[in-house]
Amino acid sequence: MPRKIESTRFAVIEQEKVVKIHERKVPELKDEEVLIKNLACNICTADYGLWSGARKNLNFPMAWGHEFAGVIVDKGSKVPDFQIGDYVGIGYDMCGKCEACQKGLTSECVLIGEGRNKVSEDGYHGGFGCSEYVIKKYHALFKINKEIDASEAAFVEPVGTVCQGIRKLRVQPGEDIVVIGAGAMGIINALVAEAEGCNVFITELMEKKIKAAQEMGLHVIDASKVDSVEKVMELTNGKGADAVILAVGVTSANDQAIAMLKRFHGRVLMFAAGYPAPELHVDSNLIHYRKMELIGTFSADNCDFARAAELINQKKIKLSQLVEKKVQLEDVEKAFEAAIVPGSYRVSVVFDKNIE
Ligand SMILES: [Zn+2]
Ligand SMILES: [Zn+2]
Repeated sequence: MPRKIESTRFAVIEQEKVVKIHERKVPELKDEEVLIKNLACNICTADYGLWSGARKNLNFPMAWGHEFAGVIVDKGSKVPDFQIGDYVGIGYDMCGKCEACQKGLTSECVLIGEGRNKVSEDGYHGGFGCSEYVIKKYHALFKINKEIDASEAAFVEPVGTVCQGIRKLRVQPGEDIVVIGAGAMGIINALVAEAEGCNVFITELMEKKIKAAQEMGLHVIDASKVDSVEKVMELTNGKGADAVILAVGVTSANDQAIAMLKRFHGRVLMFAAGYPAPELHVDSNLIHYRKMELIGTFSADNCDFARAAELINQKKIKLSQLVEKKVQLEDVEKAFEAAIVPGSYRVSVVFDKNIE
């Protein structure tokens, strides 16, 4: 019998610029749930957007955190495939029964809509991902090899969203793919496209991000020095990109994406949202005559998380440089201050391995 864990500490965004550690009783496990001892929880854009006040569509108090990884320490009576001691990364909750789940569109599961406005019995929003101990349904778990660092294993969710986009974009080995924007998500898009055998260029304006992308071995176009549309044309011998991935949400990037596409059958993937909402200036005759495709993507289905875990486990993508900093739970306020610095990648809240 696993030892009973009575209570857990967790990080809460109480209000703008205020993040604190709270404590609560660990709820009883339901049949399909597992208890995970957390090892690392990364701060995502949405988390620090709520903290900084940039995002107003989420509520306080927010028991934030959805990018985490840890070890199963207890399980309910109906949990197949997972054992106590398994090291897991996390995707999204799903029921496995609704129409969307039956079709494999698990990111559209009825549970996800419900979860958005859910408040816990003790009055918190969010999924308690930045807790020492987290309860999850087994459907959301993906096994991770023991040698993978926990702050990197916590990337299953963001990498999963990239895998969905790459799947929808139907990339082929040898294709010329341009990623606009070398933030964390742009870099992950570039790494996954390379892992699929594509020839990838990534464009960026900020010096720090240009250096980081170069250090990761990516072919970077410095958009502060050259016209990236002209550069892409030059690098592809006048052909243009087979596909462009928009990893920033701004109007000028949308315009560039269309301008750097190859003449026929070019595809654009709208990976990023932007606030305020960017515009898209495109003559619809162009889409028609040039047989262009504009493709939307958001979130990830279970097959995408499985692919993400596979890429991480097989070390086909290296994420260590996207971990900007590791900060102990006790110093969670410092973690948010580091996350908000322009150009910083993921700040990872790490948990004491020895806590029992
Ligand atoms: Zn996220
Ligand atoms: Zn469902």
